[in-house]
Amino acid sequence: MKESIHPEYMPARVTCACGNAFVTRATVPAIRIDICSNCHPFFTGKQKIVDTERRVERFHQRYKRYQKQVNARQEKPRPSR
Ligand SMILES: [Zn+2]
Repeated sequence: MKESIHPEYMPARVTCACGNAFVTRATVPAIRIDICSNCHPFFTGKQKIVDTERRVERFHQRYKRYQKQVNARQEKPRPSR
């Protein structure tokens, strides 16, 4: 191994946003992550939407408004041919 060009390889504590934590090895002592094998949908089998930019919430609001419009339209009698 060439000297002075390799970063130090040390134990690193990985902390996930779901509360899970484990120790691995890396060149930094601590790593913070948003998703891990404990909470990723691939491993849990449940659907989970990571709504970091509130896009999903905004979609649901927009969809509710759209549904109201559709319902209002359907209450009127349809013109017969
Ligand atoms: Zn996690």
